[in-house]
Parts: sequence; C-alpha cells; structure tokens
Amino acid sequence: MRVTVVGSGYVGTTLAACLADAGHDVTAVDIDPDVVAALNDGHAAIHEPGLDDLLAEHAGDRLRATTDYESVPDADVTFLAIGTPSNEDGSIDLGALTAAAEMTGEALAEGGEGDDASPADRDDRHLVVVKSTITPPGVARVREALLAGAGDAADRVELATNPEFLREGTAVDDFQHPDKVVFGTEAEWATARLEALYEPLLAATDGNVPVVRTDPETAVMIKYANNAFLASKISLANDLGNICKRFGIDAYEVMDAVGLDDRIGAKFLRSGVGYGGSCFPKDVDAIRAAAREAGYEPALLDAAVAVNDGQPERMLDLLDAHADVAGERVAVLGLAFKPGTDDIRNSRAIPVIEGLRERGAEVVGYDPVAAENTRERFPDIEYADSAAAALDGASAALVVTDWDEFAALDDAFDAMGGAAAEGPVVIDGRRVIERREGLTYEGLTW
Ligand code: NAD
Repeated sequence: MRVTVVGSGYVGTTLAACLADAGHDVTAVDIDPDVVAALNDGHAAIHEPGLDDLLAEHAGDRLRATTDYESVPDADVTFLAIGTPSNEDGSIDLGALTAAAEMTGEALAEGGEGDDASPADRDDRHLVVVKSTITPPGVARVREALLAGAGDAADRVELATNPEFLREGTAVDDFQHPDKVVFGTEAEWATARLEALYEPLLAATDGNVPVVRTDPETAVMIKYANNAFLASKISLANDLGNICKRFGIDAYEVMDAVGLDDRIGAKFLRSGVGYGGSCFPKDVDAIRAAAREAGYEPALLDAAVAVNDGQPERMLDLLDAHADVAGERVAVLGLAFKPGTDDIRNSRAIPVIEGLRERGAEVVGYDPVAAENTRERFPDIEYADSAAAALDGASAALVVTDWDEFAALDDAFDAMGGAAAEGPVVIDGRRVIERREGLTYEGLTW
C-alpha cells in the first residue's frame, strides 16, 4: 500500500521505517529539513535501537522523506504523528496537529498525479489516521481542521485514530511486537484498509496480537486509560512504599509478593523516585484537564500525580535527616528519565538537582548519555565523566536513574568524603546500590 506519514519524530520515524519494512511504499513528511535530510540519508535524527538499520535498508527504495505534502493524495493512508505537548494548565496543545491536519486536507483538495495505483483511481476515498495521542474531544477538532483544509474534497475524506503504545528506547521492537493494536474508525471501509495495512506486520507475529476495533473517540480514550493506569500503578506502589519505609519494612519484599497475584501482575511495582519522561506526565495531565473541562474531578489521578511529585522531595528529606549539604559536594547519579535514553524531559533528576541547589550543595551530575541534554537545563553544575569521578570527594550521592553500571560501583564509594559526622551518605531512589560498610545508606522505600 502507499502510505504517507506526517511528522517524523519518535513515533513517525518508527512507524515509517516499520511500514516500509513490512513491504509498504512510504513517504515520510516533516517540516524540519534536517530531519528529512537524515532520513533520506538512511538514518534517524533520534536515537532508537534498530531504527537506523531499517532506514539504511529501505531509504531511497520503499522509503523517502520530504518537507512537502505532495504524496498525500496518492496515498491509501496518511498518518498524522505530530507532537501534542501540554499547555501551561496541563491540557493538550493541538496546535501543531491541527495545522498538519489542515495541510493534509489542502493537499487532498489539490489532488495527486492520479496514476493507476492511486486511491483516487480506485475508489476515490482517502483515509487520514491520527497516530498522535489526543483526548476524545480532540478528535472532533482534528477532523474539523482536516475537513476545512479539504474543502470540496471533504466528502471523500475519512478520519480514523490508531493510538500508539510504543516506548522510547524499545520503539521498533514495541511497534513490531505490540500487546494490542487499536483501530478507531467510523466506516467499515476504513477498518478494512487499516486491517490490510497492518496485515503483514501482524502476520509476522503469528497472529497472536489482539486487534481492538472501535470508534475513534473510544480508541484514543484507550490510550489515556492505559497510561493513566500505569502511572497510577507506579504511584500506588510508591505510596505503599512510603508507608513501608515508615514501618521499617522493605517495600520490594512486600510488592514482590503482591505481584504474584495475577489480578495485579508483577510489573510496575518497583517503588522509588517516580515516573518521568515525555508521555506519562503529559498524558495524565491531559486527561485530568479534559475530565475537569467536562465537569468531572479525577480524584485518583490527581493523587497519583501528587504522590509522584512528592517522591524527589522525600529523597531530599532522607538526605536532610543525615547531612547538611550546604557547601558540600553532592553526586547525582543518573540524569535521564529512565535507563537506555538520553531524554531528560520530566526526569526526576531535575527536582532533585533543584532541591540540592536550594540547600547550597555543590552538585556534580553523571549520566552515561544524558549529560549534554542536562547541561542545557543546568549549565552551571559540574558534570563528571564517570560515576566514580562524581563520587570522588562527594559527601553524599543520590541515585535517580537505574543504569546497570551503578550496581557495579563497589570500591568507588570508598573515594567519597565530606564533612558529615555520619560519613558519606547514599540515598538510593532506584534500589541499585548494595549497602556497604562505612556508608550511610538509605533506600527510598526500603
Ligand atoms: P516528536 O516531537 O518527536 O515528533 C513530532 C515531529 O513532527 C517533529 O519531527 C516535528 O518537526 C514534526 N512536525 C511538527 N509540525 C509538523 C507539520 N505541520 N508537518 C510535518 N511535520 C511536523 O513527537 P513524538 O514523540 O513522535 O510524538 C508524536 C505523538 O505520538 C504525540 O502525540 C505523542 O504523545 C504520541 N506518542 C509518543 C510516544 C513516545 O514514546 N514518544 C509514544 C506513544 C505516543
């Protein structure tokens, strides 16, 4: 099939590369010429394992990139994979997405080359699919923008939604082996076209992937419910973990046992300094704002956010209980929002660093890949080349990201120093450090 993917970020590039790999003919569109040039060169502007291999294989053949929307009218399906960031009040900003939808409509109105293989010659109907995460009321707004752009061609255009569940760091693998695929359509022909598009991908997974067929609004709500559930599960584990800590109980021992209940499941029960990244905080905020707008107070989701926001402060409280860090060197181990990425958006390291600076500490940060991104946010703290170098002479260390290498630091802790009467202090927000002699060790929830 012929596919146009508008927006070539984490989701759009993964989608374009995987659809090309599944045998489709794909045009990737982005307004950023650098992103386009990189794709045509066979590599991605973002870091995702396996993505460059797919791009190198298919760029110039089944996959090409461009800054214009010319390919849209001749495509069987056009995906919109544009960012949907938060407004100040947490609500979703649909500005870039509605602009792209309108441009897609305008391209459809202009028409294409009309060769034998184009949908215009086959059945004259065009399917536009929203891949971006949008709230149920957002569906009507995107449709309105698309149809306004399409003008006289509007009656040939159908809008569907197909939310994406991939995770940064494992985007290609998640896309090729999803837990589920969700089609939000109104017309039967639109469902059939999406089924045909996904057929080679799903066939490669032995047909075990459940396909949920529903309407466009329900489909996007499934995405929010999914992320709201996962974020709340983490916050519930953290809330229970904070209670365990008060009782001197190891929350991990408790939650390992709780996770044996198959109604609960073992995943997302590791308590600690909380979730971050570009999706959970934004998506939970967006659905809370949309709920309020619709007259409902989402009490449980509000509490999930409050617990998450409190975890970095609880880490700093534990530090305060052992040491006054004013004028002291304090290491922050891990700056990325999770291991395996250089993304620091909503990383828990940000409030931790801010809290340390308020206390007058001399902060030294270390992360194997996220230091450069953090430097943009905090240009005047020190950055070490290794975790051991960060610990050298530090009176305290706060572990914020669970990079594997932190579990193997061993003797590096012997180089810690400082003036605290109790000796060096380690506050572990991710349970990666072993307790050891000569170190005051505090686990956040154990
Ligand atoms: P992103 O910011 O990485 O990429 C968006 C791209 O769109 C950018 O390259 C930008 O230049 C381009 N763009 C903006 N306006 C354009 C226009 N008018 N025409 C063409 N291109 C345009 O965003 P992302 O992380 O890929 O997320 C896209 C959507 O998918 C969001 O709604 C997000 O919530 C959702 N999502 C993201 C993830 C994730 O892990 N990143 C996972 C699931 C869903």
